[in-house]
Amino acid sequence: MLSEFDLITRYFNRPTRHTVLGVGDDAALLALTPGHELAASTDTMVEGVHFFPDVEPDSLGHKALAVNLSDLAAMGATPKWTMLALTIPKADETWLEDFARGFFALAAEHDVDLIGGDTARGPRNICVQIMGEVPHGRALRRDGAKVGDDVWVSGHIGDAAAAVAHLKGDLRLRGSLLAHCLARLNRPAPRVALGRLLVGVANSAIDISDGLIADLGHICERSAVGAAIEFAAVPCSAELMPLRGQALVIRAILTGGDDYELCFTAVAERRSEIEALSGQAGLALTRIGSIVAGEGVEVVDPAGKPMSVKDGGFDHFR
Ligand SMILES: [Mg+2]
Repeated sequence: MLSEFDLITRYFNRPTRHTVLGVGDDAALLALTPGHELAASTDTMVEGVHFFPDVEPDSLGHKALAVNLSDLAAMGATPKWTMLALTIPKADETWLEDFARGFFALAAEHDVDLIGGDTARGPRNICVQIMGEVPHGRALRRDGAKVGDDVWVSGHIGDAAAAVAHLKGDLRLRGSLLAHCLARLNRPAPRVALGRLLVGVANSAIDISDGLIADLGHICERSAVGAAIEFAAVPCSAELMPLRGQALVIRAILTGGDDYELCFTAVAERRSEIEALSGQAGLALTRIGSIVAGEGVEVVDPAGKPMSVKDGGFDHFR
């Protein structure tokens, strides 16, 4: 078995681009751009809970970083630095090489430096920390939603949860639909560019990691408001559209996690501006409802009847 030191140098010590001091000392040194705040977040992925044991290590490397980038996207921050704490049962070099390839490909895409981390032996567990910058006082937060705001969603949602339902044997997907949903589950695209464009435009934002209802619910809670959503307006992919009437797919769209799209609110006067941003980001932005007085998220069907959704969110494998 390689020593911990060998592992780190061989796979995870890469040149940095905008870091004072990266891997190799007791701590990394970072210099913030004047006038900016540090945005920091961390996310742990545990085998059997957050990912299937047989998922491609390359995809896992991608996703471990993607879910963290998504949190900074939701703040309107620019990601710059990341740290990786990797617990693995054994030093499988093929696995490490593939994992590092997926991780660093996405890091390069977003110009993020890996500045440190740790490795340990144990049940597979991937903990990534992300840090970035946001202009002072300008971060998108969960507590800024106002009654009357439109509620928007980027891209489309439900594919990742449909893939999980398929992998659990609850839903049968085939061919290109299955490939599409698996790609959305395993290689999510964090909406970093969109998040930055929404600074100064959106009143509040969150990334959809636990499901639309749960995550919009967090905005409602922090902003002390409610939200009214029309199910018919919630965007799902063209691929998933033919199954949209099925109960499991409705659940995937409303409560499925792992989409990593952004949900945000903005005043109605911003509509045309937001539509223009959609072109700039190359990403559909869809208005799905509005912020109302009260609490919680209510979803209505096309007849205007409230839909009951059993789970507030999506609990992965449980
Ligand atoms: Mg989040």
